[in-house]
Amino acid sequence: MAAKKFVYFFGPQGSEGNATMKNTLGGKGANLAEMCNMEIPVPAGFTIATDMCTVYYKNERNYPPELAEQVDENLKKIEAVMGKKFGDPQNPLLLSVRSGARASMPGMMDTILNLGLNETTLNGLIKKESDTRFAWDSLRRFMQMYGNVVMGIKGEHFEQAITSLKNKYGIKNDLEMTVENLKELVESYKVIVKEQTGKDFPTDPKEQLWGAIDAVFGSWMNERAIVYRKMNGFSDDWGTAVNVQAMVFGNMGDDCATGVAFTRNPATGEHIFFGEYLINAQGEDVVAGIRTPQQVTLEGSKKWAAEHNISEEERASKYPSLEEYMPEVYENLCNIYKKLELHYHDMQDIEFTIENRKLWMLQTRNGKRTAAAAVKIAVDMVNEGLIETDDALLRVTPDQIDQLLHPQFVKESKKSAKLITKGLPASPGAGTGQIVFNAEDAAAWRAQGLDTILVRLETSPEDITGMVAANGILTGRGGMTSHAAVVARGMGKCCVSGCGGLNIDVEGKTIKAGDLVLKEGDWISIDGSTGEVLLGKVATETPQFNDEFEKLMNWADNRRTLKIRTNADTPRDAAQARKFGAQGIGLCRTEHMFFEGDRIKAVREMILADDLEGRKAALAKLIGHQRDDFYAILKEMQGLPVTVRLLDPPLHEFLPSEPQQIKEMAEIMGCTEEIINDKIKALHEINPMLGLRGCRLGITRPEITEMQTRALIEAACELTKEGIKVFPEIMVPLVGNVNEFKYQEKIIRETAAKVFEEKGINVEFLVGTMIEVPRGALTADEIAEHAEFFSFGTNDLTQMCLGYSRDDANKFIYQYIDKGILEKNPFRSIDQTGVGQLVEIAAKRGKKARPNIKLGVCGEHGGDPASIDFFHRCGLQYVSCSPYRVPIARLSAAQAAINNDVVRQIKQTAEDAYSKAETTAKDVYNTAKDAYSKAESGLKNLKETLENSEELKKGVEGAKKLFNDIKDKFKKD
Ligand code: PEP
Ligand code: MG
Repeated sequence: MAAKKFVYFFGPQGSEGNATMKNTLGGKGANLAEMCNMEIPVPAGFTIATDMCTVYYKNERNYPPELAEQVDENLKKIEAVMGKKFGDPQNPLLLSVRSGARASMPGMMDTILNLGLNETTLNGLIKKESDTRFAWDSLRRFMQMYGNVVMGIKGEHFEQAITSLKNKYGIKNDLEMTVENLKELVESYKVIVKEQTGKDFPTDPKEQLWGAIDAVFGSWMNERAIVYRKMNGFSDDWGTAVNVQAMVFGNMGDDCATGVAFTRNPATGEHIFFGEYLINAQGEDVVAGIRTPQQVTLEGSKKWAAEHNISEEERASKYPSLEEYMPEVYENLCNIYKKLELHYHDMQDIEFTIENRKLWMLQTRNGKRTAAAAVKIAVDMVNEGLIETDDALLRVTPDQIDQLLHPQFVKESKKSAKLITKGLPASPGAGTGQIVFNAEDAAAWRAQGLDTILVRLETSPEDITGMVAANGILTGRGGMTSHAAVVARGMGKCCVSGCGGLNIDVEGKTIKAGDLVLKEGDWISIDGSTGEVLLGKVATETPQFNDEFEKLMNWADNRRTLKIRTNADTPRDAAQARKFGAQGIGLCRTEHMFFEGDRIKAVREMILADDLEGRKAALAKLIGHQRDDFYAILKEMQGLPVTVRLLDPPLHEFLPSEPQQIKEMAEIMGCTEEIINDKIKALHEINPMLGLRGCRLGITRPEITEMQTRALIEAACELTKEGIKVFPEIMVPLVGNVNEFKYQEKIIRETAAKVFEEKGINVEFLVGTMIEVPRGALTADEIAEHAEFFSFGTNDLTQMCLGYSRDDANKFIYQYIDKGILEKNPFRSIDQTGVGQLVEIAAKRGKKARPNIKLGVCGEHGGDPASIDFFHRCGLQYVSCSPYRVPIARLSAAQAAINNDVVRQIKQTAEDAYSKAETTAKDVYNTAKDAYSKAESGLKNLKETLENSEELKKGVEGAKKLFNDIKDKFKKD
C-alpha cells in the first residue's frame, strides 16, 4: 500500500495542491499552491499537511517514518527548481518555515527565515564583496529568530546583546553595524544560546529544519493559540500545516525590497491599492515598525507625506513610493494584484519580496478588514459584477454589523477636548479609558469594570488578552499593517498606531508629549478613524448608517424569509428599533412599565391589598398609565404587530425592601409596618421562578388581566378612531396546560368585547401564548386549538429544559465551557439538540392543529446568528430581539436563507465535485504524461542500445541462429 501523502509540493511548474485544499494545506499553503497554478512567481516550496499535526499529537509528538522520506524528496524538488542545494557551502538553498492553519491565527508561531545558514553556508551567500555584510546580518537574524521561536529563548536577551554592542561602538542605527560588529554579535548569540539552553546553536541545516517543523507543530498547542481558537470558535482538531519555502531576499541591497499590501483599503474599503514597503529589508521589518515603511503607490505616498507634514521634496528623495522607485516592478505587482482579486473575487492581503528587481509573491489571502470596509467592499464588488448579492451578504459577518453600531465621538464633546498628538488611523471607532501599559493590567482593570486604553510601544501576539479587554489600543511604533493595526481591525477595536509624537515609557508607566506627562490611570480618548489622541474622557455616540449599509440591508431584507421584530417596552425603544428596521414588536414586557415614576406605589398597593376591592382600587390608579404607554407604542408602530405580554414576574419582585419604602407603604395603606412586613414574608417563595408568576398571576388575580386588556384595547380603539392603524396581539405567559390558556383567553375576549361595545368600534387583535414551559411545548397541539400565535420564550424554555437557573448559571457555565461539557452558553445561543427539540416539536404540533398559526421567538436567542439559523430551519415566521440587535438579526436571517437554500447547496456541491474532478483529472493526466515520457525515453534508450551495441547484435544473431537450429532439429525428429 502506498504511504499516506503528507507533503505537497508547489513551484513554478505548478503545484500538487490548490486553493480548495485549505483544510489539508492550511490557508497559506493552499493559496501558495494556487498562485503557482496561476503562474504567479512564487519561490518553490512544500507544505506539510495539517493531518500531520493531528498524527503528531496522537503519537505523543512523534512523526511516522514516511514523513522524513517525503520531506527529503520535496527538498530535492525545491533544490532542482531553485538551482541551489540545502547545506551547500558554495550555493546554499535557504528556507523559510511558517505555520498555517486553515484560518489565519495570529496567536501561532512566528516565521523563521534564513534557515540553513551557518558559518560555512554563509560563504556561499557572498557572491561579491558587498554581500559580506548581508550574509552576516542574515546569520545573526536567523540565530535570533530561531533562538527565540524554536529554542524558546526570550527575545530580550538578543535585544540586550545588540544594545550593548551598539553602546560599545557608539552605533545608533542597526544599519551602521559593520561586518566585524555582526561577527561579534554572532559570537555573543552563541553564548546566549548556550547559557539559556545548555546546548549549542544547531549548525546542521537538517537539524535546524526539523527543529523548526517541531516548533510549528508545537505552537498549535501554545497558550496564545489556544486562547485565539477559543475566542474565534476554531476547533483544536484542525491542526496547523507547515510551509517550507525557498528564501528570496529583500535585503540584498538597494535593488531589493519587501512589502505588504491590500488590494483595497482595509480600513475604509475604498477601491485603492494600498500597501507599504521597505527598501533593503526583510519581511518582519515592515510589520515590526522599527523603520518607517514607505507607500507602494505615489498617491498613497503623497497623502502620507501630507499627514506627516513632510515636504514633497523630502518625500520624493527620502520616502519615494514603489511606483516611483521601481516602476516596472510596481507595474508587475499591479498586474498580479488585479489578477488575484479577479481570481479570488475578494480583497486580498498580499506579501511580496523584490530580489534584485525580481518580484516574488510570498502570500495572498482574503484580507482582514474593518466592518465599514467589509460592507463597502461587498457592495462595490456586486456593483463591479465581481460577485452576486448573496455572496455580498455572506461576506459581512453579523459581528461586523455589531461593530458598525459601535460608538463614535460626539462632535461637540470632541471639539472641546485637547489634542495631544496624532498617530495613524489604524482601526476606526472611538475609545475612551484610563491608561494601562501592559496586557495583564488591561485584563485586571477590565475585571474590575474599568475602561482602559492599552498603550504599548508596539504589540505582539502576547498582548491579545489585553487588546480584547481594553477599549482601544495606542502604539508608539508600527504602520497600518503592524500587529496592533491588523489585530485591532479584526476585533473591531479602535486603534491608533505609530504615534511617534509620544514618548512612551512602558516600564516607568508614563507617556510624555512635549511638556505633558501622563501616567497610568489618566484618561485619554483615541479616534481610530483619524489617528487623534485626545486628553481626558470624550463622549461617544452610535454612528449613522451610510448608503452602502442601507443597500446591503435592503438585499438582506429581500433575501430573508424570517421577519425581524423587536423586544421593546417604551415608545423610545420602539422608535429606535423601527429606525433599525424592526417589523413589529415581538415582546412588550408590561412589568417594565410598572416601575416608572410613582406607579410602583400603586403596584405595591395592588399586591398588598387585603381583598378584591382593594386590588381593583389600586389597579384603577394604574390603568391610565398603561393605556397611555400602549397608545404611544401602538402609534409608533403604525399598524405593525405589537405583542403585549400580560404581567409575568413573581409579585414579590415589586415589593418594598428598604425600611423607608416599607414605612411609606404602611402610611399609604393605613396600617402598621409590621403588617406590611408580614405580608412581604407571606409572599416569599423558595423558588420564585417556578412559583406564582406568568399566567398563574392572571389566574389567581384575574383583575390584573382584565385591567391590562382593557388598557390595551382602549388605546387601540382610540387610535383606530384617529385613523391610525394598530395591530395588537395579547400574549399569555408561562402556559404549560391548555386550561390555563383557556381561562385567560376567556377574560381577555370578554374584556375586549366590553370595551368594543363601550367605544362602539371593533379592532382586530390576536390572543396567543408564550411557549416557555416544556409541557407547553409538548402539548402545543392542544394549546394551538385555542391560541392564535406562539412566541417561544427561549430564556425560560432553556432554564426549564436544562434545569439551569437563568440568573445563577454563570457560576458554573463558564467552567462547563472550559471543561468541554458545554460548547457554548445555552442562554446566548440556543441548545439545538435539547431545547431545540422542544421548539421543533411545538412548531410542528402547533402547525398541525392550526395551519395558519403565527410562530416566533422572543427570548434572547432571537438576536443570536446561530440560533436565527436554527429558527429559520424550524420554519418560524419571525424572531424578536433588542433594538440594537435588529440589524444583526436582519443580516443573520438573510444568511440563514442563503445557507439553507437547497438550490444553492446543490450548485455548491456540483461546483465542489467539478473542482475535485478537475484536480483528479489533472493528476491522472500528469501521471499519464509522466509515464508516457518515461516509456518514450525508455524505448529510445533501448533502440539506441540495440543500434549501438555490436555485442548485442551478435548475441541476437547467435540467438536467432540457435533458435533456427533447434527448430530444424525438432522438425527432423
Ligand atoms: C423568555 O422566557 O424567553 C422571555 C422572553 O420572557 P422573560 O425573559 O421575560 O421571562
Ligand atoms: Mg419568560
